[in-house]
Amino acid sequence: MSSSFWQILIFGSLAALGNILGGLVLFPSKVQTYAKRSVRLILAVGTGFMLAVTFIEILPKTIELWQQNVDHSAINYTAPMVLLLAGYLLTQLLEHTIAPHFHLGEEVRADEGISVGSAYAAVAGMGIHTFFDGVMIAAASQLSAGLGFLVFLAVALHKFPEGLTVGSMVLAAGKARGGVMAATITLGLTTLLGALIFHIAGEGVSSLVRYALPFAAGVTLYVAASDLVPEINHHSGRSVFVTIAMFLGVGLFFALDITLASFFH
Ligand SMILES: [Zn+2]
Repeated sequence: MSSSFWQILIFGSLAALGNILGGLVLFPSKVQTYAKRSVRLILAVGTGFMLAVTFIEILPKTIELWQQNVDHSAINYTAPMVLLLAGYLLTQLLEHTIAPHFHLGEEVRADEGISVGSAYAAVAGMGIHTFFDGVMIAAASQLSAGLGFLVFLAVALHKFPEGLTVGSMVLAAGKARGGVMAATITLGLTTLLGALIFHIAGEGVSSLVRYALPFAAGVTLYVAASDLVPEINHHSGRSVFVTIAMFLGVGLFFALDITLASFFH
């Protein structure tokens, strides 16, 4: 087994654990009340980090990949940009058309009472997104270990709220703890599956990363800018802390990016 396989297995498993922990927070205890309160701040930091990794690392890497082995006068960026847009639009379709309306990172109250079918649709819709969380980790890891780590962090920072949202929907549909666990474990497993499937397929077809990276970046962009930004603003009023936390996430990205660059270059 190659070292990148172990890296992907560890990153994928840790990210999957975030989904499961997010669901566990729904069962009250002192620690969990505290964890729930910190969700918004984690979300804001994670949002800044995700935006930064997409714009500063993933998009330039995509352009680089499409420039390789091509005569420069013949470079056409339509395909990767269409994939980026497609990843973005697919997430809109899955989260707001096929699945019932929900806010990623927000807890659905038990008294809102949603149907079991809606809860399953939410798990399925979110499952495709979490699959691409995994693909993004593996695609970035294939390019460099440092980039893999940065993308892993970007994914891990929104896994906890993801588990919380889907877990609370399952509860609102009248299911008990077992149902919540089954839903969050499913999301965790699809993340791991996305990472492993891409890793195996990517080793066979080396050009796969050129297509997977912009598509997964489109999904990430949607989650950060269209799911999470409205969500953190919605509950913060005019509080400046959310914005500070988001900028901190961007700062954290640059600090790590510079540190990793000196390690891996
Ligand atoms: Zn996700």
